Parts: sequence; structure tokens; C-alpha cells
Amino acid sequence: MPGTPRAGIIPVTPFQQNCTLIWDEASKVGAVVDPGGDLDRIEAAIREQGISIEKILLTHGHIDHAGGAAELRERLNVPIEGPHEADRFLLDSLPETGAGYGLQGARAVTPDRWLDDGDAVSVGPLNFDILHAPGHSPGSVVFISRDARSRSSATSCSRARSAALTCRAATTQSSSAPSRKRCCRSATTWPSSRAMGRRARSARSG
Ligand SMILES: [Zn+2]
Repeated sequence: MPGTPRAGIIPVTPFQQNCTLIWDEASKVGAVVDPGGDLDRIEAAIREQGISIEKILLTHGHIDHAGGAAELRERLNVPIEGPHEADRFLLDSLPETGAGYGLQGARAVTPDRWLDDGDAVSVGPLNFDILHAPGHSPGSVVFISRDARSRSSATSCSRARSAALTCRAATTQSSSAPSRKRCCRSATTWPSSRAMGRRARSARSG
């Protein structure tokens, strides 16, 4: 039986990157997409929604998306899937990159599974097809929800949280990744996180 995807956004790091929780409505099994940092807030959102996290997904290797992945893997004891291995150099250099931005605690990370074009990823009953979409970074991937595509509801996503696939700065860059503007309009944004995240917006980058 196909799942019903739900999503919520947690702005993290001074870049206010949209870390995303995705989960199946009925089973409450889910994943954390792009935990760049602020792990206590991510875990608070997980508790608030009562989600059982099955895995961490990474869309690409930039610091604001992947800087907290290694520590969150340890905290939750779940595997990391993605991005494409072409971003290995970014994931290997996260400590140096974090230091350059003045960010504390970013750790290098090697995913438990690299993803490639045509792969499939499951999160509980939810299923995603993988599109390798180099451009924003060499190893960027898109998670395309089969479940959402099979639904006609206006509140479902045409693509599963593609909001999480691009850094905000990516909207001004040439990229083969699909626009996030049409996706997940009903997604929850945790207000407390948003308020806290107004700090240091000037630090935003890719
Ligand atoms: Zn990025």
C-alpha cells in the first residue's frame, strides 16, 4: 500500500538552509533531509511530530546541508544515503569549510550509501526515484516521490521536497535541478525555528 508523504521545514545554520523532515502520514516513519546543523532543533521537531526516523538523506555536500549529518547519524543511529559520490570532496572537507565560515562542529562524513541516477530510496512505505542533477554541486541528487506523483491532491508535492535539494543561492544559478517553487506549499515550517533563524541572514550563501 503506497504511503502518504508529509513534510516539514526546519531552517538551520546561519544560512537558514531548509532542513526537511519527510514522513509517511499513517506509519509516522520518516527521514531527515539535509541536517546542516542545529541538531537540537531538528530533534525537537522530530519529537513534536512523533516521527520514527529511519534514515538521513543528503541532497548534496555543502556545509549548510551536510555539516551536522555525521553527528546526527550517531545520535539517531540511522544510516545516511546520498548524495552522489561526486560530492565526496565536499563531504571530506566539511571541517575546513565550517571553520572558514566560523561554524562550530561540522564534521566530515561518508554516507552509508552513495546514490546514482536511476537508484531508488525507500523511507518506510514511501518510495523515491533518484535523479543525479549536477550543477549546483557535482554530486547533487533529486529525490522524486512516486507516492506524491500518484496523487492529485493540491496539497501533495509534485516532487518530494525538492525544496531540500537546492541551497537558496541556487535559485540564481544555472542548474538542471527543478524549481522548488511549485513544491510542497503545504509543508510545515516550525515557527520557533524560523524566528531563531533570522539571525545572520547576511551570511547566507550556497
Ligand atoms: Zn548547496
